[in-house]
Amino acid sequence: MIKVAIVGYGNLGRGVERSIKQNKDMELVGIFTRRAPETVKTEGAKAYTMDHLKQKKGEIDVCILCGGSATDLPAQTPEWTHLFNTIDSFDTHAKIPEHFAKVDQVAKSNQTTSIISTGWDPGLFSLNRLYAQSILPVGQTNTFWGKGVSQGHSDALRRIEGILDATQYTIPNKEVIEKLKAGENLDLTTRDKHYRECFVVLEEGANAEKIQEEIISMPNYFADYDTKVHFISKAELDQNHKAMPHGGTVLHAGTTHDNTKQVIEYNLQLESNPEFTASVLVAYARACVRLAKEKQYGAFTVLDIAPKYLSNRTDEELRKELL
Ligand code: NDP
Repeated sequence: MIKVAIVGYGNLGRGVERSIKQNKDMELVGIFTRRAPETVKTEGAKAYTMDHLKQKKGEIDVCILCGGSATDLPAQTPEWTHLFNTIDSFDTHAKIPEHFAKVDQVAKSNQTTSIISTGWDPGLFSLNRLYAQSILPVGQTNTFWGKGVSQGHSDALRRIEGILDATQYTIPNKEVIEKLKAGENLDLTTRDKHYRECFVVLEEGANAEKIQEEIISMPNYFADYDTKVHFISKAELDQNHKAMPHGGTVLHAGTTHDNTKQVIEYNLQLESNPEFTASVLVAYARACVRLAKEKQYGAFTVLDIAPKYLSNRTDEELRKELL
């Protein structure tokens, strides 16, 4: 049995607790949180303070770190990799090389193994970009996200004065996807690839027109996109817009000899982003333990891991059943 600890218990942490129940070779040691453990409502697992984690050394094969990428993981992954094998879902793409270097140094000097930036993007989408570009070097890769809820954009809406609550959906431009699949060579801008749709609840007396203008002109978040804003009641938002669906497509349109068209498409349609991301983390936790057993210490990403390490089946079974 692989003994797992969940470090940090939000949406992703809850997803990992659920996923471990579906993996017969895994056992959950506990949930470790910065909050008072008795205030954290788990789905059956015992919660401990994060300080207590140190005392569990020897009882844990791998810690799945479920903190946020903005401020938790840059500190927590190096900190816990001193003592444990770790997995994280660090998704600030531009800072991954810096995060990797820091965790690699800690892991190598403490003989631990860490797989960082797992999940679907970064993660499974990264792998598919690599496969596509290596197999069809003449071609163009595009990644489309959605339809799905972007937590970052929803948070940005909630920070606007006069907005009580909001949900933002990222929607891919299907026409553009079809044209790329048909082999058209397009020069795409940010605006061409995705739309944004916002469902917003206003505070009493707020000026809808002014807020709409503030949303669609917000730099980095909405200004570069076509954005539709709907003002709705709190009851409607709570009833229809509180789930966390997501997904997307990695599309690589390439050519081989004599302009022969070849298209690779990898698509995810997720009813629950955190539950799916958690399931990816759990599979990579298995790979992490296996690497550590082989004394392969240091930091790794999904690009470094042999696919068979994700599975709990033997090499022989995999050769027989999947090839
Ligand atoms: P949450 O905000 O739900 O949780 C983050 C942390 O906040 C938790 O670990 C928890 O730490 C703390 N927390 C959670 N709920 C509460 C609360 N009610 N009050 C106070 N603190 C709380 O984030 P998610 O779980 O949704 O996402 C985590 C990260 O996963 C994201 O930042 C994102 O980077 C990453 N992600 C990566 C993906 C990928 O494809 N690579 C896809 C999706 C997400 P503690 O228990 O210690 O208080």
